[in-house]
Amino acid sequence: MVYATSRAADEVADMDHVRRLISETKKFVTESCQKVVHNAMQVVGGIGYTNVLPLERIYRDIRLASIWTGTNEVMAMIVAHEWYREHGKHKAAKLARDYARDAAEADAADEIIYE
Ligand SMILES: Cc1cc2nc3c(=O)[nH]c(=O)nc-3n(C[C@H](O)[C@H](O)[C@H](O)COP(=O)(O)OP(=O)(O)OC[C@H]3O[C@@H](n4cnc5c(N)ncnc54)[C@H](O)[C@@H]3O)c2cc1C
Repeated sequence: MVYATSRAADEVADMDHVRRLISETKKFVTESCQKVVHNAMQVVGGIGYTNVLPLERIYRDIRLASIWTGTNEVMAMIVAHEWYREHGKHKAAKLARDYARDAAEADAADEIIYE
């Protein structure tokens, strides 16, 4: 995922798309690393918490990865924002389905009140 995103950053001209890929990758990869280290500590037990193994250091360091260079909550917002923009582009080009039309009562306009 990191290599594919890095290649896209080098080669793809659509920076909105690349921004989404980078944010998705940063969030997914850092959270996956946290799970891996968490599981490693689970496997070795209490000694993993001590400094005779490097795990406690890795555990702390990988926690930072979801905070710095933009927190993962901010990554989630960027991903949602870019998806919305991409979807909007397709909608403008009439490539996307209008999901609201899937409802049985889609034409009951009087029932749809946004307040
Ligand atoms: C060791 C270290 C080195 C650093 N080095 C650099 C550097 O070299 N250059 C640089 O520019 N910066 C650097 N930083 C700063 C780093 O990028 C910021 O810490 C990071 O972007 C998070 O910002 P913040 O700490 O102000 O947290 P805040 O923005 O105050 O966020 C606090 C918490 O609230 C959450 N949050 C904030 N807004 C929202 C929202 N709208 N919705 C949901 N949750 C939200 C965040 O996810 C986070 O959990 C460094 C930080 C550290 C810890």
